[in-house]
Amino acid sequence: MDGDEPLGGEWNYDEQNRQFPGTDYEAPDPPEFEPDDLTRRTREWVDETFAGDYDTDPPGVGWADPEPFRWPVTREAALAALEDFCEHRLVEFGPYQDAMLSGEPAMNHALLSGAMNLGLLHPREVIERVVDAATVDPDVPLSSLEGFVRQVLGWREFVRHVYRESMPELAGANQLDHHERLPECYWTGDTDMACLADAVEGVRTRGYAHHIERLMVLSNFALLYGVDPAELNEWFHATYVDAYHWVTTPNVVEMGSFGAGVFATKPYAASANYIDEMSDHCGGCRFDPDATTGADACPFNALYWEFLDRNADELRSNHRMGLVYSHLDGKDEASIAAIRDRAETVRDRLDRDEL
Ligand SMILES: Cc1cc2nc3c(=O)[nH]c(=O)nc-3n(C[C@H](O)[C@H](O)[C@H](O)COP(=O)(O)OP(=O)(O)OC[C@H]3O[C@@H](n4cnc5c(N)ncnc54)[C@H](O)[C@@H]3O)c2cc1C
Repeated sequence: MDGDEPLGGEWNYDEQNRQFPGTDYEAPDPPEFEPDDLTRRTREWVDETFAGDYDTDPPGVGWADPEPFRWPVTREAALAALEDFCEHRLVEFGPYQDAMLSGEPAMNHALLSGAMNLGLLHPREVIERVVDAATVDPDVPLSSLEGFVRQVLGWREFVRHVYRESMPELAGANQLDHHERLPECYWTGDTDMACLADAVEGVRTRGYAHHIERLMVLSNFALLYGVDPAELNEWFHATYVDAYHWVTTPNVVEMGSFGAGVFATKPYAASANYIDEMSDHCGGCRFDPDATTGADACPFNALYWEFLDRNADELRSNHRMGLVYSHLDGKDEASIAAIRDRAETVRDRLDRDEL
C-alpha cells in the first residue's frame, strides 16, 4: 500500500499477467535438492508400497519422484527454494502466470505450496521475503509482485476460510448433478489430447501441475464431461504433493467443479480456444482446436457447448454467463444437433477410455 492507496494505483494487475511467452521459451530449471537419509528411506518405502501403474497387478498410484529430487522437505531446503524463486522466477512470475508449455510443468511458478502446507515455511515470511526481493530488484515488475502476494495472502487464506465455513457440506456438494466417472487417462496419461496428456505427465512424474493446468485443463475437462466432483477431488488428493483437505477440496469441488456456489460466481468452463491461446499444446495435437464437430474436432469444443446446453436451467440466469448463452442461442438447430452428436461420440470414447 501507498498510504490508503494501492502501490502503482491499481488493486489488480491481471491484465498484464496473461501473456504467452512464445513456443521456444525455456523456463528456468526448478531447484534440485540432495535427498537426505530420511528422504531416501521414504522414497524406498513409497516405491515398495505404492509403485505401479493403473493396470499393474496390484494397481499402483505412480512412483517416487525421479532424480534430480525437486521438493524441499526440510526447513533449510524450503528456505533455499524460496530464495531460488526470488532469484530466478519472480521476475517473470506475473506475465507468464497463465501460460502453459509442453514439458514445462513449473514455468515461473513458485513451487512453494508443499513447503507452506507442510509448515516448513510460514506464508507471512514467504510474502515478506518476496516483497523485500522485489523492493531491491528493479527488474521485478509490480504485476509479478502483486500477483504473487494476492495468490498467497488472497487466495490461500481465503480458501482456508471457505473450508472452515463450508465443511462438511462442501466435500459432497454437486449442484450440477454430475455423476460421470473420472476417465482412466487421468491415471495413465494415455490420451491423444496433448494438453491433458502433458498435464497428467507432470502429475505422474512429480505430483505437480501449475494452477492453470489444474483449473483450465484438468478440472475444466472433468467439468465439461460431467465428472462427479467428489471423484475428481479424490484424484487430486491421491496425486499431488501439496494436497490437503482444507485447500484441495475448495479448489476442486468449488472452483474447479462449480459444486456448491459458495464463492465461485460462475463455472470455470472454457473451450479449446482458451487452451490454444495460452499454450503450445494445440499445434502438435491430433485434434483441431478450431473445429467443434467432426472426427478431428477438439473434444473440449463439443463438450463445452453441450455443457452449456445441458445446464441451461441452472446457468442461463447467471448474469456472468449472459454472453456465452447469447452465442449458444445464436446457433441454429442443425448446429446444435451436430454438437450433441459429436459430444456423444466423445462420451462414448471416454466410456471406453479410448480418447
Ligand atoms: C483444481 C485445483 C486444485 C488445487 N489443489 C491444491 C492443493 O491440493 N493444494 C494447494 O496448496 N493448492 C491447490 N490449488 C491451488 C494452486 O493451484 C496451487 O496452490 C499452486 O498451483 C501451487 O503451486 P505453486 O506453489 O507453484 O504456486 P504459485 O502459482 O507460484 O502460487 C503461489 C502460492 O499461492 C498460493 N495459491 C495460489 N492459488 C491458490 C489457491 N487457489 N488456493 C490456495 N492457495 C493458492 C499457494 O500457496 C502457492 O504456493 C489447486 C487449484 C485448483 C484449481
